[in-house]
Amino acid sequence: MQIVFATNNAHKLAEIRAILGRDIEILSLADIGCHDDIPETADTLEGNALIKARWVKQRYGHDCFADDTGLEVQALGGGPGVHTARYAYPDRHDPEANTRKLLAELSGSDNRAARFRTVIALIQGNEEHLFEGIVEGEIATEERGTEGFGYDPVFVPEQLGQTFAELGVEVKNGISHRARAVSRLAAYLRSARP
Ligand code: IMP
Repeated sequence: MQIVFATNNAHKLAEIRAILGRDIEILSLADIGCHDDIPETADTLEGNALIKARWVKQRYGHDCFADDTGLEVQALGGGPGVHTARYAYPDRHDPEANTRKLLAELSGSDNRAARFRTVIALIQGNEEHLFEGIVEGEIATEERGTEGFGYDPVFVPEQLGQTFAELGVEVKNGISHRARAVSRLAAYLRSARP
């Protein structure tokens, strides 16, 4: 079985290939000659994941899945959510500025509850499926740790007491939102395999 993952992110490709093993071959966007800047204009994670997967299916004819992730902070009404990557600046992705803005917005707030949520949209033949992975936690009061990326220095997963950046990639990859969504996708693909 061959399926396209609508990304060129090497870490995401390696993660899913490690989970799926050799039976399901994962192609990247570059592998199918897609260098499009796919618009992510929906106002939900589900919507954006579907836009990317449908884009590949409709224009390139491949079965495909795509992901979208958001950080949902209770005191910010579930934000930044779909705007997580461009939270500080609407026109660019600046992870350090995003983290600073988040800490500033929550300064003095007792409610620091937050979760990471990943949605994966799969299109196989005529069928569309959504898979979700969530990790609950809270936002630390300052940055801690050096591993990972994005909001990892300020996200403390439930019951672990350390940020993702302190826990390190191995621990994180065992419990993360993306790992949970990917393992649901993997279970489905294995069960659906002819
Ligand atoms: P994407 O949909 O995977 O590109 O994720 C959107 C944004 O969410 C990224 O640009 C990061 O800022 C943030 N993000 C996603 N996953 C993680 C994570 O595991 N740790 C920290 N930040 C993340």
